[in-house]
Amino acid sequence: MIGSYSPALDAEAISVAAQLLKRLGIDDVELRINSLGGPECRQKYNNALKEYIGSNIDKLCDDCKDRFDKNPLRVLDCKEEKCQKIIADAPVVLDYLGPECKEHFETVKAILNDMGIKYSVDDKIVRGLDYYTRTVFEFVSNGIGAQGTVCGGGRYDNLIEECGGQASGAAGFAVGIERLLLVLEAQNGAFEAKNEMDIYIGAIGSAGLIKGQGLTYRMREAGIKAESDSVGRSVKAQMKYANKIGARYSVILGDNEIAEDSVALKNMETGEQEQVKVSELLDTMKTKRK
Ligand SMILES: [Zn+2]
Repeated sequence: MIGSYSPALDAEAISVAAQLLKRLGIDDVELRINSLGGPECRQKYNNALKEYIGSNIDKLCDDCKDRFDKNPLRVLDCKEEKCQKIIADAPVVLDYLGPECKEHFETVKAILNDMGIKYSVDDKIVRGLDYYTRTVFEFVSNGIGAQGTVCGGGRYDNLIEECGGQASGAAGFAVGIERLLLVLEAQNGAFEAKNEMDIYIGAIGSAGLIKGQGLTYRMREAGIKAESDSVGRSVKAQMKYANKIGARYSVILGDNEIAEDSVALKNMETGEQEQVKVSELLDTMKTKRK
């Protein structure tokens, strides 16, 4: 999400991530947020942190001694017990925010409150990456043994410019797919149950593939849960997949179906088939969705 310096964008990125996790059926995650401030606040904080950690460097692990030279912020991510003791008393970035960054963070929190999204402020979240500015956030799961970050992100106002683009406010997030799968597994396959599909749109040949992708996109736009083949499976494998994802209906689009504007719409529960115009498949599905 780019093009805005407004705190609304930070909140939107967080809310989209929250919604994504919710839709995947992941509910045992905690949202933690923090603000790293803009470049000026960051500089002041970095100086304070350098001074503090520098004066305690002998008590840190070897990794942290390396980290300290590269970026003192990364020391804060260390899980070693002896480092944790030092980290606990380290200066806190929130104390170094200037008035504008403070207000920005307060507004992000106010919007989240209004959205009904629960969070806690965790001043130890620094995301380990240098390109973040102001808001950073993590969705942390307790359901996979060791505590793990399932999804993390924030604002990165300087990233686009640093990569050679025009200066532009931006915010976003990334999801750790492997962590995500672990969480889903720990939740006893809630994923499959909640991933029930309205229709699977299979394809034979490239015309079917193109048509199928277009239809899938337009159905999703209309709120219909549709999925199509994007990996070139055989028809048999496609039907097997349609069963696996719990599709309620399926079609297979090929050259004939497209030429004749007619396709067999199969009810996957009863096995019944009805002929439907390809050009009217979207409207037909609108009447059949749950
Ligand atoms: Zn360490």
